[in-house]
Amino acid sequence: MKDHAQIGHELDLFHLSPVVGKGLPLLTPRGSTILRILKRFVEDEEIRRGYEYTNTPFLASDQLYRISGHWDLYRDNMFLIPDNEGKPGESFLALRPMTCPFQFQLYLRKGRSYRDLPIRYAETSYLFRNEASGALHGLIRTRQFTLSEGHIICRPDQVADEFLAALALVKYITTSIGLSGCWYRLSTRGEEVGGKYIDDPAAWEQSESLLQELLDKTGESYRIAPGEAAFYGPKLDIQYKDAWGREETLFTLQLDFALAGRFGMTYINQAGKPVPPLIIHRSSIGCYERTLALLLEHYQGQLPFWLAPEQIRLLPITELGLSAATKLREQLSEHGVRSSVDSRLESLGRRIQDAHQLMIPLMVIIGEREAVNDDVSIRLYGQKESLTMKTAVFTEWICQASRLRIVHLEVQTKPTKHTH
Ligand SMILES: [Zn+2]
Repeated sequence: MKDHAQIGHELDLFHLSPVVGKGLPLLTPRGSTILRILKRFVEDEEIRRGYEYTNTPFLASDQLYRISGHWDLYRDNMFLIPDNEGKPGESFLALRPMTCPFQFQLYLRKGRSYRDLPIRYAETSYLFRNEASGALHGLIRTRQFTLSEGHIICRPDQVADEFLAALALVKYITTSIGLSGCWYRLSTRGEEVGGKYIDDPAAWEQSESLLQELLDKTGESYRIAPGEAAFYGPKLDIQYKDAWGREETLFTLQLDFALAGRFGMTYINQAGKPVPPLIIHRSSIGCYERTLALLLEHYQGQLPFWLAPEQIRLLPITELGLSAATKLREQLSEHGVRSSVDSRLESLGRRIQDAHQLMIPLMVIIGEREAVNDDVSIRLYGQKESLTMKTAVFTEWICQASRLRIVHLEVQTKPTKHTH
């Protein structure tokens, strides 16, 4: 069993530079490709499910965080920059630790009525948290990270459906990336009153019992974790056992009765009165960097076919093979399949070994005979035998596998049916 940092190094996915700083990993082109595929997948799926995407700034004045409560409860974890145009020692700009207060400002930019809700804002947000250097680790604990963040602003009669829809999205995403075996944890305020939590006992009771009711309705089993809530409300954590058997929180859905009031967010209800909406804070794939780390450990580097940065390596023999491989690469690229041609003057054995080291899911060997017959000889990662098939059959099969987000390619059954 290897740690994600070791796998990331071996597969050339990310780099830690002491000059850049602690907890600030740099993703290589290969690592960036995986994150880009994941982000596009999540963004497209969320838009399909009725989310609207926003782009909000990386930093804001301390005023914003004073309203949200982050200034009082979370300031030690934030990166602060003195604002030279404000009062010395009092005015700051701060890098954002989350996107909620920014999206709330977008909600506030115009009047809302009960008919405008729900509003589902999503953002692929870049966040900053000033973690102690001792706690930093690879892609799992960093000082800057990317979150699939979203806020659903809704009426009380919509909150149950919206919460369940957010949960269904989480389930769809976890299944698609192959992280199965998740369970639920209901994080409540517990015995603690005030302190790190917003002081509004009635709202806490109301939101904690609503979440419990919703969970009971789904019939899923869950565990209650007192003292694990967010400072503005209880949350449902989707828990996962990592490759080492350690419990991790993958994603969270939070129910928030408090922040709309603090920000003065309202909508006009059916009786014509302004009332505060409810807010669900949610993530659908969690922190991208950490999810990548968990995937690397879960699959021990052998990523699902649709996520592999380089899905296919083409290995030509002779000039004729090279021109066929180049043509095939262009064809695959037109269908969004990621491949490259290794035309180095190394032996075939050496080139196979190099592709194997990078855990590329599929190798395609094209020699003189294959090129003349319009065939390809394919070999899956970890297998010793090759299989010959018509180039057109191969292309159709592989483009479909990529489009359908196939986790593991199966070569024995389907392609052999079509050979010759
Ligand atoms: Zn939020």
